Amino acid sequence: MTTLTDLESTITACRLCPRLVAWREEVAREKRRAYRDEAYWGKPVPGFGDPAARVLIVGLAPGAHGANRTGRMFTGDSSGDFLYAALHRAGFASQPTSRGRDDGLTLTDAYISAACRCAPPDNKPTATELATCLSFLAAEIALLREVQVVVALGRIAFDAVLRVCACQSQPILPQPLFTHNAVASLGDGLPLLVTSYHPSRQNTQTGRLTTGMFDDVWSSVRRFLK
Ligand code: SF4
Repeated sequence: MTTLTDLESTITACRLCPRLVAWREEVAREKRRAYRDEAYWGKPVPGFGDPAARVLIVGLAPGAHGANRTGRMFTGDSSGDFLYAALHRAGFASQPTSRGRDDGLTLTDAYISAACRCAPPDNKPTATELATCLSFLAAEIALLREVQVVVALGRIAFDAVLRVCACQSQPILPQPLFTHNAVASLGDGLPLLVTSYHPSRQNTQTGRLTTGMFDDVWSSVRRFLK
C-alpha cells in the first residue's frame, strides 16, 4: 500500500469477515428510529486525521449507530462526544463535537484508527475478525511516518498495537500490562505506547473514566511529543 488514500479505498471495500459484513449492513438497513431518515454508511470505516500526525489513536471498532452510520471514526455517538471534546481541549481537534463527515472537523497532529473497521455485534469482534483486520492497522502505522506516540483506547486496541509490533519488529518483553494512563516503549526508534480506558458510555457513565482522567492522558501525550 503506497498511500493513505489507497489504503482508505481498500479498507472501505473490504468484505473479508462474513459475520461483520452481514451485521454492519443489517444495521444500516434497519437503522435506529432517531436516524431513520439518514443514509447509513454501512461499510468498513477508514482512519481519519492528519497524515503528518505525531499521535496515532487506536480505538476498538465503529459503533453500530455511530461510525457505522456516519462513516467517520468516533463520529455520531457518545464515545465520540467524549473523545473529541478531550482532543479539542488538548489542541488536537478543531472543534469539540463530531456529528458527520461534512461537519468541518479537522485534526491537527493526530490520526484516529481502530483495531477492527466494521461495527461488531455487542461491540465484540471475534479473535479471528481482529486478526483478519490487523493488516490495516499495520499498514496505517507504516504509512504514518511521523508518529511518536500511539494511544490505545482500551485493552483490545492495546493488544492490537502490540500484535502489530510483534509482527513488524520483535515481541516487547516483558509485555506491558494494560492500565489507565500508562506508558510503554515499543522498542528503539519506535513510538511510545500510551494507554487509556476506552471512552465508551459504559466507562464514562459509571465514572470508570472521568473527564479529568481522560485529560491526564492527553497531557501525558503532549509531554512525550518531541
Ligand atoms: S473487520 Fe476488517 S477485515 Fe473484517 S470485513 Fe471489516 S474491514 Fe474487512
